[in-house]
Amino acid sequence: MKKTDRPEIPRKTVYRLSIYLRCLQRLRANTIRTVSSEALAKVAGVKPTQLRKDLTYFGQFGTRGLGYDVDTLARMISDLLGTNSLQPVILVGVGNLGRALLAYQGFMQEGFGIVAAFDIAPPHQPDRNPTGAIEPMERLEEIVREQRVKMAIITVPASAAQEVANRLVACGITGILNFAPIVLHVPEDVMVSNVNLAIELENLSYFIQG
Ligand code: NAD
Repeated sequence: MKKTDRPEIPRKTVYRLSIYLRCLQRLRANTIRTVSSEALAKVAGVKPTQLRKDLTYFGQFGTRGLGYDVDTLARMISDLLGTNSLQPVILVGVGNLGRALLAYQGFMQEGFGIVAAFDIAPPHQPDRNPTGAIEPMERLEEIVREQRVKMAIITVPASAAQEVANRLVACGITGILNFAPIVLHVPEDVMVSNVNLAIELENLSYFIQG
C-alpha cells in the first residue's frame, strides 16, 4: 500500500496491529479459518471494544455471527504494515549487539531481510558477521540506493549514533531502529523507534518493589 493511500493511524494502534497479526498467524498455523472479535481480543490481550475500534481502519468486513476470516484479516494487516513482501534492512555497527541481531534467523519470517551490515572498523575475526561480509562505511550510500533500502538498525556506540543517523537519512533511509542510548535528531518525515532494555528493566524494577 502506498504511503499516500494509507489512513493516518496512531503509533500505538500500529503496535497493536502487529500483535493482532502475530495472533492471526498462530491461528492460521493451527488451521483456524475464522475468529470472533472476542476470541481474537482475548489472545491479543486487549478489550474487544479496542480491537473492533482498531479494525475500523479497514472498513466493514467482519461477518456478524461468523467473525473475521483469519487469512483475509492477516493479509490486510500485513499489507498495511508493508510486510507482505520482504523489506530490505541494513545494520550499522557490527559489535556485540549487531552480531547478535545478525545471527537471529527470525527476522526473515517476520518479513525483514538484513541485506547488508556496515562497520567502521575491519573485522577482528572473519566470522564476525554470520550472514555475510561486513561492508565498509564507504559502500553505505551505494548499497542503500541499489537495494532500495528504507530501513536501518543502528547498533553503534552512542557517541557515533547521530553522525550515522545523519548519513543514513541523507541517503534515503526513512525508518531507523535505534539501539544507541541517545535521542536522535532527524527530519520530521523520518521515523525513529528506540529500543532501550535498561529503560524496560527500570520500568519493571519500579513495579516489583514490595
Ligand atoms: P560494541 O562496541 O561491541 O560495537 C559497536 C560497533 O560499532 C563496533 O564494531 C564499532 O566498530 C562500530 N562503530 C563505531 N563507530 C562507528 C561508526 N561511526 N560507523 C560505523 N560503525 C561504527 O558495542 P555493543 O555492545 O554492540 O553496543 C552497541 C550499541 O548498542 C551501543 O550504543 C550500546 O549502548 C547499545 N546497546 C543497547 C542495548 C539496548 O537495550 N538498547 C543493549 C546493549 C547495547
